[in-house]
Amino acid sequence: MDLTLSVENLKGVGPKTAEILKKYGIRTVRDFFYNLPRDYENYEQPVSISEIRPGKIVIKGKIDQITTRRARRRNLTVTEGIISDNTGSIKVIWFNQSYRTRQFTPDKEYYFTGDYELKNGRYSLISPSAALVTDIDTITGLSPIYVAHGALKSHDFRRLIANSRDKFSLIPDLLPTVKPKTRQNALFGAHFPSSMQSIKDCRNYLAYEELFELILAAKLNKRENEKLKSTPINFNLNEVKDFLARLPFTLTNAQKKAAWEIIQNMQNSTPMNRLLQGDVGSGKTMVAALAAYEAVLSGTQVALLAPTAILAQQHYNTLKNTLEPFKITVALLTGATKDKKNLKTNIKNGKINLVIGTHALLTDDTEFNNLALVIIDEQHRFGVEQRQKLMLKSPSGLAPHLLAMTATPIPRSLQLTIFGDLDVSILNELPKGRQPITTKILKETDIREQLYPKITEIIKSGQQVYWICKAIDDDPRTETTSVKSRSLNLQKLFPKYKIEFLHGRMKPAEKDEIMGRFKDGKTDILVSTTVVEVGVDVPNANLMIIENAENYGLAQIHQLRGRVGRGDKAAFCYLLTASDMNPSRRLRELEKSTDGFHLAEIDLKLRGPGEIYGVLQHGALDLRIASLSDTKLIHRAQKDVAEFLQNPENMLKYKELMNTITKYQQITTLN
Ligand code: ADP
Ligand code: MG
Repeated sequence: MDLTLSVENLKGVGPKTAEILKKYGIRTVRDFFYNLPRDYENYEQPVSISEIRPGKIVIKGKIDQITTRRARRRNLTVTEGIISDNTGSIKVIWFNQSYRTRQFTPDKEYYFTGDYELKNGRYSLISPSAALVTDIDTITGLSPIYVAHGALKSHDFRRLIANSRDKFSLIPDLLPTVKPKTRQNALFGAHFPSSMQSIKDCRNYLAYEELFELILAAKLNKRENEKLKSTPINFNLNEVKDFLARLPFTLTNAQKKAAWEIIQNMQNSTPMNRLLQGDVGSGKTMVAALAAYEAVLSGTQVALLAPTAILAQQHYNTLKNTLEPFKITVALLTGATKDKKNLKTNIKNGKINLVIGTHALLTDDTEFNNLALVIIDEQHRFGVEQRQKLMLKSPSGLAPHLLAMTATPIPRSLQLTIFGDLDVSILNELPKGRQPITTKILKETDIREQLYPKITEIIKSGQQVYWICKAIDDDPRTETTSVKSRSLNLQKLFPKYKIEFLHGRMKPAEKDEIMGRFKDGKTDILVSTTVVEVGVDVPNANLMIIENAENYGLAQIHQLRGRVGRGDKAAFCYLLTASDMNPSRRLRELEKSTDGFHLAEIDLKLRGPGEIYGVLQHGALDLRIASLSDTKLIHRAQKDVAEFLQNPENMLKYKELMNTITKYQQITTLN
């Protein structure tokens, strides 16, 4: 069967359905079969009510006190009830399903499966499906759940897949395999589960397949990179020594090691392709400065790309201060830059040695004289095309050396797979004298007693505070406080303090001014959305409050928290949570550790399928299976890929494989 055929060729997929599928990225027959269930309903394993956590759950219990009312919004009915088992009871809500009022017999037991989540300030089971316990034995215990795509709900996908049930036997194998039909059996077993164990086995094989693809893509990238040419950057020992001697501090050992790795790497005439990983505050900028200095000494130009105007400005200030004494011309190019034309002329004729900028750097009319080093800060914030635009600005026939920096530590397992083609330098050490950040989860009811005194204490001692909110404006449908209303509220509580707010929808110039005042110590409390997440450096800010902390990912909070504790004073981070829930594992881990590498490993374990790409590039990598924490499977795939590559004929023989990995090759490369 030709898996590249359009989905319309499948039974039951008419033009309308095809249109929806395509909109959600399911274009081919292959995409369709690989649209795996997100989860499985398992009526055999209900949890007791005392043990439920937010998310998809199955419980077994009796239902009572069912009532239906009309909501304020027209056309909406709300049916509520109480489900109990012998460990406790919870509230259940259905919308527009008033028949539920008549569905249940009080003393009978039912299975309920649905999402347990926060609704109107309280955790409830939302719109569960329900089945009589005595009926279930006649149903197979397991049923796949698909992610709903627009009008296509989980049960629609079940129907569509059932329509194609007889087509699975036509799916050819993708990889070399000892047992033929491994792939079709795995896909079949994932869509038509027969037992929990078989689901595991099938998904495990598909995970292996995916890892094989990723690793193969990474290896081929490395081969291709090795064919490219770049300008070698000479090592200037005396100048580097002089540079280091003039810094106000000595480099940490980790910085020295990373700088040395970079210097050596850039001496080659094949381009460097290196990721500099270092936790927030580990001093990546100085390492980048040294690399830039070296490149300029060799008579070439350097471009540094930053994801936000605030960050570009900050890098500009630092690098200008550091490098101008060495007669290096440094320029800033952002959307707000005045007289871009003149600046671009000077970049083109080589008068500017180092240009720092945002997306404005990427436009076609930004041309270089002799660009030999590209530095990208927070590289995962940029898409492949964006990065490629910059890489193509080197003289023809040459590729620039690339130094990508990230403060989101990448777990070792990811390095081996997705980043298998990269050289990595790690800053696993913070500069001396840094105080650890004390993190504390705080229920919202305890704010007044525990938090407000802390705020007063910090500000009275001349330090500053970040207060992070999720939303810009108030939204009555959600419970999150906005920056605007939070700053009003704080201003009332602390009338003497200077409070400002910041968010991503402000004009760049306005943001810069607000950030500037905070940096200069003119503002006591900065209430902000996550725009302060990336790289902003205000060493005098030593208290951060993150409101609605449950709404953020682990890596994101770790990043945010890194904004404090950058000076020599003790720093604090409070994670505010709703009062009626136990804090998640995520928050508890953050309370326990400030080690970004450790947290990254945990993050990988805690996240579900497909979510991990957050640490990579924006949505580029759509993993079907969260297999990236499975080191054993990774090693097996690595071994098999190495074997595969030993026989050049395989590249011709496994055509489908070679086609599918082109997609991964684009993602796993940095250039
Ligand atoms: P990040 O790795 O998060 O980008 P930065 O490069 O912004 O970190 O550095 C954080 C702060 O630490 C800056 O104020 C920088 O000047 C300072 N710094 C960098 N290296 C050292 C060092 N070796 N000793 C002391 N301070 C340092
Ligand atoms: Mg930084």
